[in-house]
Amino acid sequence: MAHLREHSARYTVACPRTLVDDLDAALLVQARDVAARAYAPYSHFRVGATVRDAHGRVYVGCNVESVSYGLTICAERNAIFAALAAGASRPFSALAVTCLDASGPCMPCGACRQVMEEHLATDAPVYVGGGQRFTAAQLLPHAFKMEPHAE
Ligand SMILES: [Zn+2]
Repeated sequence: MAHLREHSARYTVACPRTLVDDLDAALLVQARDVAARAYAPYSHFRVGATVRDAHGRVYVGCNVESVSYGLTICAERNAIFAALAAGASRPFSALAVTCLDASGPCMPCGACRQVMEEHLATDAPVYVGGGQRFTAAQLLPHAFKMEPHAE
């Protein structure tokens, strides 16, 4: 945990009482690290996210904007998609998201909430920078599910 302490000293990440352990605190610290690599020349709103897979491996993502704004992708989906592309084991056990440029919590957008609901374990915590903890179902109750009728 020396690595975590080193990071914690470098940043003033709010580590709320709701964090389960140092591993979860480290997720927020890593999310803050990757936010510095965001490509956000238009909004200047840098976001980082981390996702932990079922085996405890951590994958990262940052927001990447496009001059054609609609093509922009959020940090949370980038982290989840990077994890899937790397062969991460589902369902994912935790996700953290933080923003370097927001005065308050950086709540996930609706699209990211839908993707989280699909790939995170039911009880997986979603940590939002600033200290709030949710589950994907709390963030998106009644999420879309494809349930074709039986024939
Ligand atoms: Zn989003």
